[in-house]
Amino acid sequence: MQGSVSHRIKSDWSLETTCPICLEYFMDPVVLDCDHNFCRACITQCWEGSQTLSCPQCRQTCPEKNLRWEGKLRQKAGT
Ligand SMILES: [Zn+2]
Ligand SMILES: [Zn+2]
Repeated sequence: MQGSVSHRIKSDWSLETTCPICLEYFMDPVVLDCDHNFCRACITQCWEGSQTLSCPQCRQTCPEKNLRWEGKLRQKAGT
């Protein structure tokens, strides 16, 4: 029983909220299969012209269809 089960997410979270590509806060963030996050624009640009869609962080292959959109993409302009 060590009793020290404190999740130190807070300190790491600041890193998690910035995009490793543009080093800005996420804009329209997406998360890949490997749980790495990127701006949609950044990962799209990174993958542009590239045959293999892999994570820039860990090189894990991430089929684009497995992109999970973190933002609310469902806001389709109706009316
Ligand atoms: Zn970015
Ligand atoms: Zn990754």
